[in-house]
Amino acid sequence: MSDNERYDAVIIGAGIIGANLGFELSKAGYKTLNIDKLPAAGYGSTANSCAIVRTHYSTWAGVAMAFEGFHYWKDWDAYLEVTDERGNAGFVQCGGVFIGDDSRYEDKVLPLFDEIGIAYERWDVNDLTSRLPGIDTGEHTPPKRPEEDAFWEDPPKQITSAVHSPIAGYITDPQLATHNLQRAAETKGGEFWFNAEVSAIRQEGGRVTGVDLADGRSVDAAIVVNVAGPHSFVINDMAGVTETMGIKTKALRHEVHHVPSPPTIHFEEDGMLVGDDDLGTYFRPEVANHILVGSQDPECDPQVWVPDPDVFDREISDDQWRAQVLRLARRLPDLGVPADKKGVVDLYDVSDDWIPIYDKTDLDGFYLMIGTSGNQFKNCHIAAYCMVQLIEAVESGHDHDAHPVVVTMPYTGLDLDMSVFSRNREINEASSFSVLG
Ligand SMILES: Cc1cc2nc3c(=O)[nH]c(=O)nc-3n(C[C@H](O)[C@H](O)[C@H](O)COP(=O)(O)OP(=O)(O)OC[C@H]3O[C@@H](n4cnc5c(N)ncnc54)[C@H](O)[C@@H]3O)c2cc1C
Repeated sequence: MSDNERYDAVIIGAGIIGANLGFELSKAGYKTLNIDKLPAAGYGSTANSCAIVRTHYSTWAGVAMAFEGFHYWKDWDAYLEVTDERGNAGFVQCGGVFIGDDSRYEDKVLPLFDEIGIAYERWDVNDLTSRLPGIDTGEHTPPKRPEEDAFWEDPPKQITSAVHSPIAGYITDPQLATHNLQRAAETKGGEFWFNAEVSAIRQEGGRVTGVDLADGRSVDAAIVVNVAGPHSFVINDMAGVTETMGIKTKALRHEVHHVPSPPTIHFEEDGMLVGDDDLGTYFRPEVANHILVGSQDPECDPQVWVPDPDVFDREISDDQWRAQVLRLARRLPDLGVPADKKGVVDLYDVSDDWIPIYDKTDLDGFYLMIGTSGNQFKNCHIAAYCMVQLIEAVESGHDHDAHPVVVTMPYTGLDLDMSVFSRNREINEASSFSVLG
């Protein structure tokens, strides 16, 4: 019998997904401990999330889960059952318009909306210009870089495909939302250790027994869950499970830029989320009448894979700033390109098919909530809820690999087959293979 503190579940990471798992497990009666090497909850990649809530995904599971997640955000205060002393994060339901490209992403998505019962409107160029003042409706497909002459050519035709989703929006402060979850978990008995780095996954006879920390402490636990975000592959290597997984994860550098709204538009109030497949960007209103613009990683943009998630360039690059802000300026021609580069740089934890891994592993008691691929902030609660069902089933002896757990999601009543998120699934060819999921 060891003298270490003993927990039912140790959760490696206290980002939005890890903190939410802490809350859901502690609600279910588990004695939980979230361990994070950073000084506070949500200080990892979650802090720089755009925190966009949308249901445009290319698979049934992606759409269904995001629709379920939307209800949690609408009901955030009630879900938490607690008011954080720092206030609760807000959901701005500004709506979103998704501008298609030649690949007709919408032709994949809208049948799923119809099947699941998600409201939307098709917009033509008149709708776009009346609902989004200042917008240019030229079609530019495929996305290009400003170094190419073709980038500057007049668009040959007008956008033919745009879909408005009234339920889309964003969370005002992703780090605060994570702190909210920490407080919610703590009221259920959950504990959090910060500035504490997991350095080894302890195991005996094919079963996890706890973790060791870099400062010499050890913790005993019946189960350990890897929710380490872009460090997920480091933790999997530590546990020795990587080679037993069909789907792997790796870290991808991503820049998000902040620019003032064009002087002719009050984007913070009159704007909305725009998924612009045609130009390869997405953008949304940000406080102080700013616009936040990210990339959909179009083929023409170089991808920067990061071998060590502790070492990457956090400076905004001239090239990507120019590409992204100029693409935005093609859509909003009154936008100036500010001399000062502003924004954030962080890492996505990308799986081979850009769909997360929410699963057990071949090491008994060691679980994964990883590969969130730049698109799972919105699903933190429903993913954590499903994970608790999966853990409970597996710990009770259920063979999830042979007979996948199916979870009925509380708000929508839809059944989600968790094999979609298996570590050993076939690559999901329905995926967009991008941040769109
Ligand atoms: C720039 C950007 C924009 C995004 N935009 C959106 C969006 O608009 N909508 C959306 O739905 N999703 C978005 N995402 C994705 C979303 O933010 C992530 O899926 C989510 O935040 C991941 O949360 P997490 O808890 O898994 O990881 P993280 O927040 O990265 O947390 C992992 C934690 O693990 C800790 N950790 C790692 N290794 C160790 C160790 N050895 N010991 C102890 N602790 C450790 C880290 O310190 C970190 O705090 C975006 C992501 C990025 C980077």
